Amino acid sequence: MLRILDQLPAGLLDLDTTCLAEALGGPTLIRMPGAPRAPLFVATLLHGNETTGWDAVRTLLRAHEGELLARPLLLFIGNVHAARVGLRQLDGQPDFNRIWNGASGPEGELATRLLEEVARARPFACIDLHNTSGENPLYACVHRLDDASRALARVFSPRLVLVSHPDGLLSMALSGLAPAVTLECGKPGHEDTVMHVSGYLREVMALQSLDAAHPDTQDHPGEVLRPVATVRVPEHVSFSFHDPGADLHFVAGLDAHNFTTMPGGTTIAAIRPGCDACLEARDASGIDVTERYFRRDAAAVVTAAPLMPSLLTANERIIRQDCLCYVMERLAE
Ligand SMILES: [Zn+2]
Repeated sequence: MLRILDQLPAGLLDLDTTCLAEALGGPTLIRMPGAPRAPLFVATLLHGNETTGWDAVRTLLRAHEGELLARPLLLFIGNVHAARVGLRQLDGQPDFNRIWNGASGPEGELATRLLEEVARARPFACIDLHNTSGENPLYACVHRLDDASRALARVFSPRLVLVSHPDGLLSMALSGLAPAVTLECGKPGHEDTVMHVSGYLREVMALQSLDAAHPDTQDHPGEVLRPVATVRVPEHVSFSFHDPGADLHFVAGLDAHNFTTMPGGTTIAAIRPGCDACLEARDASGIDVTERYFRRDAAAVVTAAPLMPSLLTANERIIRQDCLCYVMERLAE
């Protein structure tokens, strides 16, 4: 299922994400030569609707056309079939960022094969490029807090998130091989973010070592956040951003609060009169911790204490499939 190419197909950089399936035929690893150093591994389009990564990669490669790269590049282009129709994944497909820890079926085989190839190449660093569906500032997810992983993240953003679940993330599987990050590049379609990401890739490629990236990482570790609870709308509860007749009618513009601290008492949603709906928050072990974060105040769900959300989205499909948001906490160091 994994296609492997030893050069960039002619004309590929002219194609947007909807045309890659036709050109490549499926998920593809492209090995591009560079100066004799350990290669950089970059993944994009594990989620087919997250276009910033591919646009940043082709900006980078266009700028270097005809030149030798500062180090070899291993480029993995993931769910091109979903990208063709602008979806995160197709119906019946697994989430391509949950298959990297022993998944079954053809996608599991793809994952095993790619991880073997990357391990054999002994990469310098591994970078997986994503977008978020709501407004979020740029941030980097790491799975270890060693200096090299932090440095790889901090070249991108001062905002670091330590992620230890869900299982099956690509960068988590790669973090045993080399410093590995997932970069969350905000919403797709912003040209300034494409330029920031391509500049980041160029900078990382040119580094001799990650120690040289941010020598002050140890003295100024910056802020490390981690998700401590997942917030969902219970299945039997209806919700909407537009329809005041829903059980929970969310406040407009909630995603503007991502990575900011909302004071206790901030209204999240109006509750339909006569209904006793609330949100539901669970910690990593699945324990109900709703009362720690939310309470019902007259006819509204409000924050019970200061609360920093991430990945809040107004996309109703994603809220139902996945979650409303995560609750973040600063890691005590
Ligand atoms: Zn993604």
